[in-house]
Formats: sequence, structure tokens, C-alpha cells
Amino acid sequence: MPTVDSRARPAGQPTPDVLIVGAGVMGLWAAVMAARAGHSVLVLERDRVGAGASGGLLGALMPHQPDRWNAKKQFQLQALVSLEAEIAGLEAASGLSAGYRRTGRLIPLAADHHRARALKHAQDAAAAWAIDGKRFSFAVRDTGPVQGWPAAAAMPAGVVFDSLSGHISPRRYLHVLRAVLAGMPRVDIREGANVDSIDPATRTALLADGGRIGFGHVVLAAGVSTFDLFSSLGLAPARMIGTAVKGQAALFRGDIDPGLPIVFDGGIFVVPHEDGYCAVGSTSEDSFDDPISTDSLLNDVVASAYRLAPVLRTATLVERWAGLRPKAIGRDPMIGRHPDFTAVSLMTGGFKISFGIAHELARLVVGEIGGSQVELPPSFKVEAHLNSACGKGAERHIH
Ligand SMILES: Cc1cc2nc3c(=O)[nH]c(=O)nc-3n(C[C@H](O)[C@H](O)[C@H](O)COP(=O)(O)OP(=O)(O)OC[C@H]3O[C@@H](n4cnc5c(N)ncnc54)[C@H](O)[C@@H]3O)c2cc1C
Repeated sequence: MPTVDSRARPAGQPTPDVLIVGAGVMGLWAAVMAARAGHSVLVLERDRVGAGASGGLLGALMPHQPDRWNAKKQFQLQALVSLEAEIAGLEAASGLSAGYRRTGRLIPLAADHHRARALKHAQDAAAAWAIDGKRFSFAVRDTGPVQGWPAAAAMPAGVVFDSLSGHISPRRYLHVLRAVLAGMPRVDIREGANVDSIDPATRTALLADGGRIGFGHVVLAAGVSTFDLFSSLGLAPARMIGTAVKGQAALFRGDIDPGLPIVFDGGIFVVPHEDGYCAVGSTSEDSFDDPISTDSLLNDVVASAYRLAPVLRTATLVERWAGLRPKAIGRDPMIGRHPDFTAVSLMTGGFKISFGIAHELARLVVGEIGGSQVELPPSFKVEAHLNSACGKGAERHIH
């Protein structure tokens, strides 16, 4: 049975066991895991499901480099591997496709010293990229598996093929999660519900329209806005605990095989998707005027993508998109129970890797809510981020 603490819940209000703020990939996975654990769940979403970064285009599932192995990299490896079965389960339950495929990734090598480093990484991967009887490689080759993918001119010193990476369609993925949640008992998603602040003492979420919703436990999964909600709990200002990094991406449609590997070069991704779609990205902008407009920076990304994958010139550019990635102060995801408020958990800061790990993060967050001892990579813990913020001058004061 779930063990959410029912003390101090406000009377006369709807009081889900687990209230989740935000319906991106983090919040929806938190909802699925909480419902699986037997909790009643309410998701409050300011706008609509997928209104934030999760409603974007790219959907690359890529591992960290295999060198200097640590708990964070091991966690991500395990998540990238377990995702396959999770997606199969969600697709079976919903009858919908998330557009998932483990295609691998190609990394063009521009110079001999890049090749030498890649050969070392190949050895690192041989040692580290093995889990649950599965092995993945980081192999250095002279050419890619398919002519022109990437263009020969882009890889004068060869190319790496990693067999671990893959892709998922961000929007289809959210659609599948939503459909699965619709079929689960005691789960509700409320769109257009803007949470203004959280009062952990009375276990109440205060809404911008004046409404109040009680909870047994709250999971803050509001993307970049989580930092504001977090700071309202007692650490000021929000920018000390995390920031928003704008990213722009574009979507093409043409005669592009969805089985082709991702091409990744110098921060530029070319990600084939199902049905001839191919996403390219992304910018990384720490300062910006408009979080959702696209501009010449995206034109530069598209020009780089054309150089990497000339076939894109024959495809149609069907969408330009921009959004904000949540980056926590410690750079890693900020996950788990708040050290000062036992009924508050955080689930944000996935930055550029959320799609591959959200399900495992949610499993840990919900396990912790249920009273289990969970093993988070140390750099993911809320305490670690608070310490980073204090180290940079934030004053920690509890109301
Ligand atoms: C251009 C670009 C490319 C990217 N490419 C990749 C990639 O290839 N692979 C990858 O893994 N990741 C990628 N990312 C990162 C990834 O998109 C994010 O890390 C992830 O989507 C964050 O998910 P989230 O659920 O934490 O936040 P979001 O998706 O932003 O969801 C937060 C939700 O909370 C809602 N909300 C906010 N405030 C409130 C409030 N006060 N009350 C109620 N609801 C609220 C928002 O409306 C939103 O729907 C990319 C990001 C960008 C911008």
C-alpha cells in the first residue's frame, strides 16, 4: 500500500495523494509511476500537455561519453536500456506509437587527434557500456554505414558509430503517456491550472486564479518554472538554483530512412524520425528576448545540418520551433525529496537528456515518496544543488 503521509491535509478540498505540477515528460512519467504505485494522482498543467520543452522536435536519446565513468553515467546507461521495454509496454497499453527506435549515432571525426581520442573512448565503452546482458559499442570507422550520411567532407578522419543511441518522437511520446494515464484509475490531468506557489506547511498548492488544492505529496515538474516554485519555498532568488537555456530546432520531411543513425557533430544534431521526418537542432542560448521565437541562429543550425546531411536540401522544412530547457545549478537533473520539506519532491533540470531518463527518475521519486530507500546519483540530489547555490552566494533561509 502507498505510504503517503496524510497528516495536515487541508479539509474540504480535493486532496490527491500525489499532486504533480507540470505535464511535460517529467510530470507525465511521475504521474504514471505514482499511479502504478497505487496513489491517487492529479496533474496540474498551466497551459496544455507538452506546452514546454517536451513538446519540441528533436527527441535524441544519446549517452554521455564513456570515459571517466561515474554514477550519473551508469544511471543514464541503465535508463537508456530500460526505456525500450517501458516504451513497448506503453505502446501496448495505448495502441499508439511513440516513434522510438534504437538507431545508433554517428559522430564525424574532423582530425587525427579526434580519432585518437575516439579510439580511447572505444576502449572505455567496451568496459562501461554493458548492462543486463547487453553490450553497446563506440566503434571508430573510416566511413559511415550509408553513403552521404554524413557527407564524406564532414569526416576527414573517419566517424564513430555508437550503437546505444536512438530516437523518440517527443510529441508522440507525450501523446502515448497521456493516453496511458487516461486508462489508469484515480488519475486526473487538469490543463489551464497555473500553480502560483506551494505552501508546504498546509500542503496546499495556491493557483493563480485563487484556487487552492491540497495534497499528500507534491512533485514539482514544471520545467524552467520549477526554479521559481522552488525559490518560493525558501531559497532566493530562483536564478541561483537553475536557469533557462533557450534552444531552437527545425523539422524536415522528405525521403529520409527512419532507421538511419543520428548524426551528431559539434553540438548539431540531425535526428531521423518515423514517416520521413528529420529534426535538426539546436541552439543553446543563455540570454534571449523571446523564449519561443526562431531567428537567424536557427538558420545557422540548418546550414550546418545541410553540410552534414546534404539529402536535407531535397526535403521540406515543415516547422521551426523554440523552447526553454531547464538547467539546474549543479548542471545535472535536480531530483527527489526537498531536504527541508518532506512533502515536496523536485523533478527538473534534465537539460538536454530528459527524454532518455525521465522514466527512471520518476521511478526513484515515487519510490522515495512511498518510503523506499532509493539510490540517486549524488549529483542529482536536491541537497547537492542547494550546496552549489550556497557556494555561489545564495542564502538558504527557511520560512
Ligand atoms: C531545442 C531543444 C532540443 C532538445 N533536444 C533534446 C533531445 O534531443 N533529447 C532530450 O532528451 N532532451 C532534449 N531537450 C531537452 C528536453 O526537451 C527537456 O529537458 C525536457 O523536455 C524537460 O521536460 P520537463 O518535463 O522537465 O519540462 P517541460 O517539458 O518544460 O514541462 C514543464 C511543464 O510545466 C508547465 N508549467 C510551468 N509552470 C507551471 C505552473 N506554475 N503551474 C502548472 N504548470 C506549469 C509548463 O506549461 C510545461 O508544460 C531539448 C530541449 C530543447 C529546447
